[in-house]
This record gives sequence, structure tokens and C-alpha cells, in this order.
Amino acid sequence: MTISEQLRRQVIIEADYRCEYCKTSSRVTGQPPVIEHIFPRTLGGTDERENLAASCYRCNEFKGAKTHATDPETGQLVALFNPQSQIWTEHFAWVNGGTHVAGLTPTGRATVMALRLNNENIVESRAIWMEAGWHP
Ligand SMILES: [Zn+2]
Repeated sequence: MTISEQLRRQVIIEADYRCEYCKTSSRVTGQPPVIEHIFPRTLGGTDERENLAASCYRCNEFKGAKTHATDPETGQLVALFNPQSQIWTEHFAWVNGGTHVAGLTPTGRATVMALRLNNENIVESRAIWMEAGWHP
């Protein structure tokens, strides 16, 4: 609500115009990233830079007010990936040539499931983008 246009732009530029969860480039989709609250505003999350991430519309919708999700491998409830304090490549990797994201850690696996990072629409798009050399 009180995020300035300047801060909004800073978050998106620092993310290189990519969703910080699924890495989809807004330059490929033509859909500008939304500003996502890592710790949800509904739970008291702030509009400070460290609580903000660039996200595609889809990841933002699927994340909703979640902060934790179940790791499908261990069944444990774990924190979702935090793009501000964690490094994407430590928790995720591209597989099948880049069409799918694999979770490498409990947090990575839980985030792949909760945010549906391999939903059929994005997987289909990634395959097309790969042919064009736009992904990953
Ligand atoms: Zn995304």
C-alpha cells in the first residue's frame, strides 16, 4: 500500500525482471512482476525492502499468505523459500533441460509444491522459451 514507485522499481531491477521464485522473466511473458511480501502483510509483514520480492502473478497467487509448507519427501512442515535471505541455486535446480524446477532441500521441495512451480502451463511455456533460447 505504501510501497513507493521507486522502491517497486528497485525490487524489480534487482531481481533482473524475473520472478524470484520460478525465475520466469517478465520480459518473456510481457507481464510486469508484482511486489510480493515474503512475510505476508496479513500476518504483520512490512513494506520494508527486506520483506519484498519480485514475483510473477502466478507465484504470488499460489503463495498467498503461506509462510510454510510440507516437504513432500519428509512430510515435515518447513519454511518457504525466502528470496531475500536465501540463494535460489542452493534450493532449486533446473531439470529436464529446463522445463522443470527440482527442489534440492526441504525448503526447495516444499516451495516447488506450494507455489506449483511445475504447473502444466508454465512447463509448456518453458519448453517453447527454451526452443527460442530465452530460458532458463
Ligand atoms: Zn513465479
